[in-house]
Amino acid sequence: MNKAHFEFWPKRVSKSLTVPETTIYDNLAISAKKYPHKTALVYYGARYTYREIEQQVEALAGFLEKGLGAEKGERILLFMQNSPQFLISYYAILRIRGIVVPVNPMNTAEELAFYIKDGGIRIGIVGQELYDRVQELEESAALKAVIAAAYSEYAGEEEGLPPAAAEAARTLEGAVSWRTAISSGDVPSEYSGVPEDIAVMPYTSGTTGLPKGCVHTNRSVQANIAGTYHWMNTTSDVVVLGTLPLFHVTGMVHSMHAPIYGGAEIVMLTRWDRNYAAKVIERYGCTHWTNISTMVVDFLSNPDLGKYDLSSLQVVSGGGAPLPAAVGEKLTAITGLKYVEGYGLSETISQTHFNPPDRPKLQCLGIPSFDVDARVIDPSTGRMLGHGEEGELVVRGPQVFQGYFNRDDENRSAFIELDGVPFFRTGDIVRMDEEGYFFLVDRVKRMINAAGFKVWPTEVESLLYKHPAIQQACVVGIPDPRRGETVKAFVILHEGKEGEVTETEIIEWAKGEMAAYKYPRVIEFRTSFPTTSSGKILWRKLQDEEKQKSGEV
Ligand code: AMP
Repeated sequence: MNKAHFEFWPKRVSKSLTVPETTIYDNLAISAKKYPHKTALVYYGARYTYREIEQQVEALAGFLEKGLGAEKGERILLFMQNSPQFLISYYAILRIRGIVVPVNPMNTAEELAFYIKDGGIRIGIVGQELYDRVQELEESAALKAVIAAAYSEYAGEEEGLPPAAAEAARTLEGAVSWRTAISSGDVPSEYSGVPEDIAVMPYTSGTTGLPKGCVHTNRSVQANIAGTYHWMNTTSDVVVLGTLPLFHVTGMVHSMHAPIYGGAEIVMLTRWDRNYAAKVIERYGCTHWTNISTMVVDFLSNPDLGKYDLSSLQVVSGGGAPLPAAVGEKLTAITGLKYVEGYGLSETISQTHFNPPDRPKLQCLGIPSFDVDARVIDPSTGRMLGHGEEGELVVRGPQVFQGYFNRDDENRSAFIELDGVPFFRTGDIVRMDEEGYFFLVDRVKRMINAAGFKVWPTEVESLLYKHPAIQQACVVGIPDPRRGETVKAFVILHEGKEGEVTETEIIEWAKGEMAAYKYPRVIEFRTSFPTTSSGKILWRKLQDEEKQKSGEV
């Protein structure tokens, strides 16, 4: 392990790292050259070498370019669960210098239509089990070309593949089958990608409003790939357990790109399953596991956990949501390992902060990652604050995105100039301790963090307004013992509609209108809302009242 990087340094500006002047696709090509016969991926018992993955990428890239006419700089939708095809598609899009637009597979057809329209997307690569959502799209939003993939084609004999992923390949009207795509024999043009090429555009809602694409170049992603490699030591002899969703930045960087960069082995799961996870840790000797708090809680509460040999594990890390200190302590008691928490956003393509693995603190965002300048400011005046003072976290570093796609106004407010240079405003309220470790205190932005799934109240409210009985809605996050926070909607019904609809009916209706992690779990009818003099709903007041009720403040 490269201990030098883990030395503790009590500063707000972290140590520097020389990031190679290469692209994400180069990482695969280099590992395939260095380790052609080494296993890159294990998928439910089937093994794929680096050379095999590279060949599949080449084949799909050929079809994208020659068969579908995909162009350099074109945004291509990736709407899939974790699967070998997700990885192959991602690198194939990069191979032709396209831009990957990964979208949460939980999204409904209507939500999907938004991304397709917003991103000006013509081509999509989708999981076969999700294809009906593409078919539901109205003609105007429909993709012109779709490749549908059945994950079972890549799975081995091992039990554990979830039912939807176990579906055999079928012929789907209007879609090109994965097999057809990769057997076309088309050869892509020579690769000429450069670090400045835009590589990926993950969607987030930022601090306000509707989802928007975060524009990342190869360079910003490479900064965090190399950073993860050095911080977590994902060299060619490690085995990474990949359980986080790959469409999200943490899964993408930690469970796919960093291991590929290092020539490591990835044991990939399509869906979280605590017994299967424990089984593969033992069977494949997994050394590294990046996760989200709910997975750790579930993993540790498995009554059968003692049956498995977990001694191969060296690094258990995570981010995206706080891991309660008690859970971190339980992890240590069971495995002897300290939990390594990190912090970051879609806009920073995963971490800006990390705990040093040899000296982590619990329920702590960590210290700034390589080349990150992290400051705490007063959100209203921009004044820099000192140790122990609570304020908005702003960051500057090579992993910070270029800006939101086609959102000039929001790009202006997303950054603040300090000492003549732009810093990205995270919308998170933090405190830095005397040793330079950062802690999350609150949020300025209107966001609900439900077990790492980010729910944007304004988006849920706009979906709720489609209900004929709803006149006004205000969505807030309320404390939840399992998910950390969950979604609650205060609702005012149209006059005369009172008594016509129940809270439960609205919840049931909402389930059909939005992705499963977004719909309100609790509805409360009101006849009025607290508002400002200009009529703006005081959502924070409602939210604070809920926190008070639960005894959180
Ligand atoms: P996303 O863009 O989906 O990655 O969400 C980024 C947001 O996740 C941040 O702005 C934080 O509010 C939250 N977040 C990330 N890491 C942590 C963490 N370790 N603890 C608490 N919240 C976190």
